[in-house]
Amino acid sequence: MKIILIGCQGSGKSTQAELLSKKFSLPILSTGDLCRKTAQENSPLGKKVKKMMNQGVLVDDFTIMKMAKKFLKEDGRKGFIAEGFPRNLNQAKALKGKIDFVFYIKVSQKEAIRRLTSRWLCSQCEENFNLLTKLPKKKGLCDLCGGKLIQREDDQEAAVKQRLALYFQQTEPVLDYYRQQGLVHEINGEQPIPAIHQDIMKIIQLSRDSH
Ligand code: AMP
Repeated sequence: MKIILIGCQGSGKSTQAELLSKKFSLPILSTGDLCRKTAQENSPLGKKVKKMMNQGVLVDDFTIMKMAKKFLKEDGRKGFIAEGFPRNLNQAKALKGKIDFVFYIKVSQKEAIRRLTSRWLCSQCEENFNLLTKLPKKKGLCDLCGGKLIQREDDQEAAVKQRLALYFQQTEPVLDYYRQQGLVHEINGEQPIPAIHQDIMKIIQLSRDSH
């Protein structure tokens, strides 16, 4: 089964990808994670990707498709849960093969900004915290190692707004592309995590029952 999760940053699509991945034992194709991994490499590509991510702009399609194709060849042959990919029409068209479901996890821009700017992580051990859902016991310090909490550069408000604007500009055509194929199911992303998961599961189940 091949599933694509579309939703702006902060829509909770990676959480839903994890739940679906466990449920169906399918690997997650997250180009965001692949980019973050590449950005840690001390190579020209690593430096280029890091710079683009920090600026809040999309990494070029050639680099993304190379990462995605490698993943699909090695891990995603039987199926996958894609999140954050495809991010624009070029990528969607370059992704060959039948897709089973596209879930559009919808949240308002205001809610996305509220959620994204509340993410903090430890500068030493990288443990995640969230000012809305997972407050540290001591303000500004990591519960695990006492390290100073920082915001990912791309979670700071200016970068967040830019990422969201880019998202709406570039990802809407992807939605239209899949809508034309009758694959898109809209999910209310402003519900609790289990309710979103249930909505997705109901649609998958319904489709399985009718086949
Ligand atoms: P994410 O964690 O999915 O928000 O991705 C973080 C950053 O990685 C984005 O702001 C982009 O710079 C880059 N990125 C991730 N996925 C893609 C993609 N499919 N196409 C282009 N850039 C991407």
